Amino acid sequence: NSHDSQNATVDGNLLAAKSLARFGVSHMFGVVGIPVTSLANSAVSLGIRFIAFHNEQSAGYAASAYGYLTGKPGLLLTVSGPGCVHGLAGLSNAMANTWPLVMISGSCDQKDAGRGDFQELDQIEAVKPFSKFSIKVRKINEIPDCVAQVLDSAVLGRPGGCYLDIPSDVLHQTVSKSEAEGLILAAEKSRKKESVARVEGFEIAKAVSMLREAQRPLIVCGKGAAYAKAENELKKLVDSTGIPFLPTPMGKGLLPDTHELAATAARSLAIGKCDVALVVGARLNWLLHFGEPPKWSKDVKFILVDVSKEEIELRKPHLGLVGDATLVLEMINKEIKDDPFCLGRSHLWVEAITNKAKENVAKMEAQLGKDVVPFNFLTPMRIIRDVIVGMGSPAPVLVSEGANTMDVGRGVLLQTEPRTRLDAGTWGTMGVGLGYCIAAAVASPDRLVVAVEGDSGFGFSAMEVETLVRYQLPVVVIVFNNGGVYGGDRRSPEEITGPYKEDPAPTSFVPCAAYHTLIEAFGGKGYLVGTPDELKSALTESFSARKPAVINVTIDPYAGAESGRLQHKN
Ligand code: ADP
Repeated sequence: NSHDSQNATVDGNLLAAKSLARFGVSHMFGVVGIPVTSLANSAVSLGIRFIAFHNEQSAGYAASAYGYLTGKPGLLLTVSGPGCVHGLAGLSNAMANTWPLVMISGSCDQKDAGRGDFQELDQIEAVKPFSKFSIKVRKINEIPDCVAQVLDSAVLGRPGGCYLDIPSDVLHQTVSKSEAEGLILAAEKSRKKESVARVEGFEIAKAVSMLREAQRPLIVCGKGAAYAKAENELKKLVDSTGIPFLPTPMGKGLLPDTHELAATAARSLAIGKCDVALVVGARLNWLLHFGEPPKWSKDVKFILVDVSKEEIELRKPHLGLVGDATLVLEMINKEIKDDPFCLGRSHLWVEAITNKAKENVAKMEAQLGKDVVPFNFLTPMRIIRDVIVGMGSPAPVLVSEGANTMDVGRGVLLQTEPRTRLDAGTWGTMGVGLGYCIAAAVASPDRLVVAVEGDSGFGFSAMEVETLVRYQLPVVVIVFNNGGVYGGDRRSPEEITGPYKEDPAPTSFVPCAAYHTLIEAFGGKGYLVGTPDELKSALTESFSARKPAVINVTIDPYAGAESGRLQHKN
């Protein structure tokens, strides 16, 4: 009766779950255990989908990618101490990529902290270098407000990772049902809203006149623009002005890679010779050679569009526009509409870029056309590309990691729709593959997910193939198996000395490992392939089945290079 329900109590676990559900959380990723199992169960009973992993590291990577794909914070739940430490992988990956994530960890009993409690750790101190905001709940009645604060902080301004610490004693405290309701309502009222800095009209006018007067303009679009869902405004800008564009690896797909103004295949020319570069949602970090010579011309003028003022202050561009990519591009498009300009296909710069791109594509196709067996990296990559292109829309989400596999894949595989590429990212994080696959499958349920990864990248979280099977996610993981990190033993005989010289090389794994049987152990589908026909048939069958599968592709252990294309950093 109503009297009973008035007096029913709500504990900290339930109050946290209620707050999350009320504040819009629909998915959580994590590993349960003391003291948060009941939080996960409560969340499920309130309609939140909880994806339970084997390891917090993978769950954290999943939460970070979920944040990127949906624009809502990815929720990571971990136990205390070691669980929190494993979760730092996901938290830090979210920070490095500027993706919204909220990690919630249980922690030890407050009264026992400092005297060796079960899984004790000063978690607030531990997360500091890896989070933009962190907070510890001291009493149950603070839970709803703290939940609101972390959720808001993760998405407002520059997105990033946030942390909420809930001690086990707080999770077990109780309040009445009506008190819980009041606390949630109060927290809901105090939630923060985005206060986007408004770019001034004269700044937009300046950007447009720089683009108009440029001899060799270029638009660079990054994953910040993809996160901002700026694809329509970007398309308008490129189509109306005829300015070539260059996507960063995860910016690929904002506009189709097959667009005639795509400068991807003429990257060196585009960045080496452009005189004005409009960079939207991409940092001038290592991925863009810091915007400096010799890769860029020393006279290039940068117009940076970024939601983060600090980012713009750090890079000191010719012109910085602080704001949301979609809003800023919309303003630029409006300004251009009043006085349009278009380079046209016979413009010298456009012609130079398109000719160079055509020439490079033709060179690449000549190499790709050959069927090399035992497989190098190119032959299976071309086969995968062609099968994916044949699928049309909705394009699958492509997850890619590994040194050679990711490098070759970035050049060969085509992205035609925004936010359909997830790779090692800003931090060069290896081991993200399975977590990203799971996030993509739950965030974009209409899309197939295809991972193309090296055997070493796969190995980081291979046990999560069980998670794929358990939730029956439409994920096909293609493992490029060349028997190690970079491949076979590349040492010369003189390098192999010392008492452990009989050991396998640090770069090598068991040759011809039967990775496809891992997923079969859980009832998923495994394929072992070594020829073009075998690969084609495995792809066709697994893509149409839309069921968890691992395709183990045997690659020549001596194909590919050490460190992929980053040899100079090794
Ligand atoms: P990439 O790896 O594709 O080069 P980065 O991760 O280096 O991209 O850069 C993404 C940038 O996008 C970050 O500096 C981030 O602050 C910015 N950003 C995030 N959200 C938005 C948004 N809504 N509008 C504009 N910029 C954004």
